[in-house]
Amino acid sequence: MISEKHSESARRNIAKAHAKQIKGDGLTANQRYYRKNKEASAERVRKWRAKNKEAANVLNRRHYANTAESRREEKRNYWRDVLSKRPKTDSERLADRLRRQKRREAGLLTRREWEEIVLQHGGKCAYCGDSSSKLTIDHVIPISKGGRNEKQNVVPACGPCNSSKGNRYEVPPRAKAGN
Ligand SMILES: [Zn+2]
Repeated sequence: MISEKHSESARRNIAKAHAKQIKGDGLTANQRYYRKNKEASAERVRKWRAKNKEAANVLNRRHYANTAESRREEKRNYWRDVLSKRPKTDSERLADRLRRQKRREAGLLTRREWEEIVLQHGGKCAYCGDSSSKLTIDHVIPISKGGRNEKQNVVPACGPCNSSKGNRYEVPPRAKAGN
């Protein structure tokens, strides 16, 4: 049975080995050794895995979890590549144009502006002051009511406040106090 402590230290050892990067080929000592003795190393790993099924499963799951994002990224890139290589249909071109037009009309809030707005609000929801949940972009005047997606019209709101506000037009107290 593998204890959490044991697997933690195993992980630390792996990280330590990775940190020992040795010039030139960019490989760690362990990686270089493994390549040089591929068959013997693979055999050793096979044997270890056979003997330590539970620990091996823990490592497998961890590896799978750690690489989930890069696998998603790979998939995204693959499809982006495939799609970019075939000509767009007329309706896709039209949809692109409408999307660009809509974005132009609604204004553009940059990531930087959004981060500044969050900072100005002390990382808190503009309505209830909660700082523990994820902040979402709230349009003081909803886009559907002609509000623009630009910094003058944006405050941070926690999920519950954002969804409870809906399309009503309310100036949040903090936004009134600031600027
Ligand atoms: Zn809130």
